[in-house]
Amino acid sequence: MAKKIMLDAGHYAKYNRSPVLPSYWESEAMWALHLDLKRELEAFGFEVLTTRKEQEKDLPVYERGRKAKGCDLFLSLHSNASKSEKTDRVVVYRAFDNRNDADVLAGKLSAAIAGLMNVSGGFVATRESDDYPGTEYYGVLRGAAKENVPLYYIIEHGFHTNLYCTKWLSEDANRKRLAKLEAEIIAGYYGLSPVKPGPGKKGDVNFDGAVNAFDYQLVKAAVLGTVTFGEEQKAAADVNGDGRVDAFDYSMIKAAVLGNYKLE
Ligand SMILES: [Zn+2]
Repeated sequence: MAKKIMLDAGHYAKYNRSPVLPSYWESEAMWALHLDLKRELEAFGFEVLTTRKEQEKDLPVYERGRKAKGCDLFLSLHSNASKSEKTDRVVVYRAFDNRNDADVLAGKLSAAIAGLMNVSGGFVATRESDDYPGTEYYGVLRGAAKENVPLYYIIEHGFHTNLYCTKWLSEDANRKRLAKLEAEIIAGYYGLSPVKPGPGKKGDVNFDGAVNAFDYQLVKAAVLGTVTFGEEQKAAADVNGDGRVDAFDYSMIKAAVLGNYKLE
């Protein structure tokens, strides 16, 4: 069964504006990042859910953590704030009791993110509640703990009070690199490699991991000569294995999509 991950974009709407770069809002940058991360994680075969469907709508922190019920991993994405504009480090908060060796993935993530962002360091931190010892200080983590999620983290991607960090996080391309890196580390932690749709899966001519109407329409176009398949596409399209892509293959893929026939 696919591992399930709950992603939390942190704050909503326009929240936590950078004092050093007014175009930056933590809520907006992290919303974009969480969507990128979702896509990257899905490429490894994870099932990825998000705490909120709409950027504009808030959900209390504790409730966001509780949304991770039944998930293997919960991540809440943030950038941090400090009184000092110099502070630029990456901090990953993990379970204060280090349940399920939470420190391992936290260490990998913090070091790698700090390396990519090229900031002064990556650190793992914890915070137990002062008022209620034995529970998490941060509401999102407390919510995830309440639902017995095995691993839960807050990732602080540097500081939006630091100009360098803020500029870095403002770049769409940087956030995409960040998402890719985080997905690779999480996948590596669970021992997963990218799901490579395509060659090998009969009928999946466009290599999107599914056999559907797009595929038989593509085969039809190939039969009619309006598109030309490469070798891997030919192999995927030749479902009856007679060495040719023709109307028979089209019919079989269409029948499979309609549920009247099972490919291999
Ligand atoms: Zn935050």
